Amino acid sequence: MTDQYTFQDPTTQYPQPEFAEQQQSEPGLARDMDPKPDHGEETYRGTGRLTGRKAVVTGADSGIGRAVAIAFAREGADVVLSYLPEEEPDAREVVALVEAAGRKAVAYPGDLKDESYCEQLIATAVAELGGLDILVNNAGKQQAVEDIADLTTQQFDDTFKTNVYATFWLSKAAVPHMKPGSTIINSSSVQAYTPSPMLLDYATTKASINTFSKAMAQQVAKKGIRVNVVAPGPVWTPLQVVGGQPADAVPEFGAQAELGRPGQPAELAPAYVFLASQESSYVLGATLSVTGGSPTP
Ligand code: NAD
Ligand code: MG
Repeated sequence: MTDQYTFQDPTTQYPQPEFAEQQQSEPGLARDMDPKPDHGEETYRGTGRLTGRKAVVTGADSGIGRAVAIAFAREGADVVLSYLPEEEPDAREVVALVEAAGRKAVAYPGDLKDESYCEQLIATAVAELGGLDILVNNAGKQQAVEDIADLTTQQFDDTFKTNVYATFWLSKAAVPHMKPGSTIINSSSVQAYTPSPMLLDYATTKASINTFSKAMAQQVAKKGIRVNVVAPGPVWTPLQVVGGQPADAVPEFGAQAELGRPGQPAELAPAYVFLASQESSYVLGATLSVTGGSPTP
């Protein structure tokens, strides 16, 4: 049995390009990807690092959020899962995995572009879990558009609503319920530092998330609440096969990383566990880069 602690060569640990051509419509399903992403289903081993914690994870059905939900549950946390209604098939699998870890899973699908859903999501967590210690703002929208002439106001708006406004709305709703020791973790991206020209709107939201997080971290530090960021590099998730990359770039996805392959969601989860747990008690306003080697500031 291998787990996340098994000593091995990271260059060959996971599938490498070239991948099969594949395209789904937004938001896509992890279960229809080839190869299937590894969210740690068979490998993540918990050691009680989040015993008794109460967490909300957005985008918890697939990709990084799913890996985080699995890891949090195996570390001893109950989890409220946010995702879009179309993602129910992926979400059902995550509910089963959280419950198999002996923890409570609350599925609460909805649209994060809607402020009232964001407020309801936090209210549901407080009611169903009896409080809230961890908020992971991880849901994201990414659609590649080559020319600004083709970038619609609708897309610009939707990308900002999903990536930035939801992070604001959920943080605002969560803080009044958070006791000292609680944490907020936001998913940013290497795109915040080295933007791809075709990800104009998306990359700009990720830089906004970084700055928002640093300001928030200072604002709530005295309450004993810590805010941090994880900045992933290329990760094999539905986001990339629903238009996050041009279709013809999918087979080579991750080839440019120093490790020569995309990361798998399972490789991101330990960063979130660290930032959620008391081990990171003196870490605030920080960005943990998990990029496969792309340098970040
Ligand atoms: P993913 O597609 O598995 O997860 C994104 C999730 O966002 C979806 O599952 C969906 O549930 C949620 N979502 C999107 N729009 C929503 C809406 N309007 N309402 C509610 N939920 C909504 O892909 P992922 O790569 O795991 O993405 C997770 C985070 O990681 C995102 O913030 C993304 O920007 C970030 N990220 C990903 C990569 C990568 O290469 N995959 C790299 C850097 C950063
Ligand atoms: Mg999904």
